[in-house]
Amino acid sequence: MIAVLVISCPCAMGLATPTALIVGIGRAAKFGIILKGGEALEKAYKITSIAFDKTGTLTIGKPVVTDFIPVGGISEAEALSLTAAVEVGSEHPLARAVVEKGRERGELPEVKDFKAVAGLGVQGMVSGKNVAVGNAAFMKSLGISIEEHAEVLEKLQNQAKTAVYAACDGKIMAIVAMADTLKPFAKEAIIALKKMGKEIIMITGDNPKTAEAIAKEIGIDRVLAQVLPGEKAEVIKNLQKEGKNVAMVGDGINDSPALAQSNLGIAVGSGTDVAVQTGEVILVKDDLRDVVTAIQLSQKTIRKVWQNLFWAFFY
Ligand code: ADP
Ligand code: MG
Repeated sequence: MIAVLVISCPCAMGLATPTALIVGIGRAAKFGIILKGGEALEKAYKITSIAFDKTGTLTIGKPVVTDFIPVGGISEAEALSLTAAVEVGSEHPLARAVVEKGRERGELPEVKDFKAVAGLGVQGMVSGKNVAVGNAAFMKSLGISIEEHAEVLEKLQNQAKTAVYAACDGKIMAIVAMADTLKPFAKEAIIALKKMGKEIIMITGDNPKTAEAIAKEIGIDRVLAQVLPGEKAEVIKNLQKEGKNVAMVGDGINDSPALAQSNLGIAVGSGTDVAVQTGEVILVKDDLRDVVTAIQLSQKTIRKVWQNLFWAFFY
């Protein structure tokens, strides 16, 4: 049909590209992939590297507490109640996991003077005590010594768990480990993308040990861990400086600037509104295999564009 159109129409040259792109966009929609314009297809065709956000993109983003280890003589019930109480103030997925665990044991005390530091942790006054929950960098910034417990933490992190410290009045009172489940088909998607010759990178604010353990499980070789929320876009920029054409797949929590900075922002359907607005490709079904489909479609479409142009010229 396109051949006949091209031959009979004086505008063949002008139609070669848009007809193919429109068909490509339509086909993508059938798979539940929304493309914001034909440009997204042309960009997808050129992608050499794909960066994935970890939490909420590769994983479901709903961690659960797997280990709660009180240290320094405090009872488990008290440590958990203090830890969960301060996390009530935070909207972070890790915080929600801790709160849920704490509520299983009963009412939580109130938190006052609550403060959250993005990518590090939270702090507040609970029952007259100064409680802080967060990663090693956060404890260091508060001047709390963690050396004694680093080994326990590392062991948990090597099991692909996200482990954080809870401190009370300047001393560590507990170690909390949480695990998040990988999304179904995340691994299949990575394998397929690697087969297509794409470089896969994981970007996360989580610590390097946990990140490496998860990356290994899923087959990702390059990991950029402990990236603060504000630095994610900078990381993409650096990858681009290496001469790469980078697609960023994210859910919008902490990573919208990175989605915007990348050559092609891909938002997962379960993501936030801001991700859906920033991304040029939206995966409605929240299935990471659709990243593969989108790239395959772009390849087929661009090939069709060249084919159309050839026939237009040739005729
Ligand atoms: P991600 O990139 O995985 O979404 P974030 O940048 O939001 O991670 O957070 C990075 C790290 O900061 C977490 O892995 C955790 O160690 C710590 N952190 C952040 N917020 C909290 C919180 N509310 N409670 C405990 N730890 C936190
Ligand atoms: Mg995320």
